[in-house]
Amino acid sequence: MKRRGQSDEVQAARLAEGCCPVHGIFMPQIDGWYYPEDGANYTLVGCPRKDCEEAARAFSWDGPWERIGPHYTLIAEASTQRFRRSMRQYVAEHAGDPGVDEMAAFIAKRWPKRD
Ligand SMILES: [Zn+2]
Repeated sequence: MKRRGQSDEVQAARLAEGCCPVHGIFMPQIDGWYYPEDGANYTLVGCPRKDCEEAARAFSWDGPWERIGPHYTLIAEASTQRFRRSMRQYVAEHAGDPGVDEMAAFIAKRWPKRD
């Protein structure tokens, strides 16, 4: 997603500060931490704007941040029971926060049965 006047350099500079490359808003955590056996630990952060699906891996609270695809796609791919539970817990604890209603709707549509 690139808009006029947003160079790759500008987007990279925003990401380097943990901000949405497109909107320049700080991206809050949207998932728990992952502990891959073959790489560094990371968590996922995403743009709080409802019309934006930018997301990144955060390798610590101070970065670095690595841009990834839309987080809704990521959520769909990681449909393990543990993940579904953690997403439902996140939505319950962050009700009313920006973007959380959409996340709740996505979860309800994709995984209508609770587990
Ligand atoms: Zn954004």
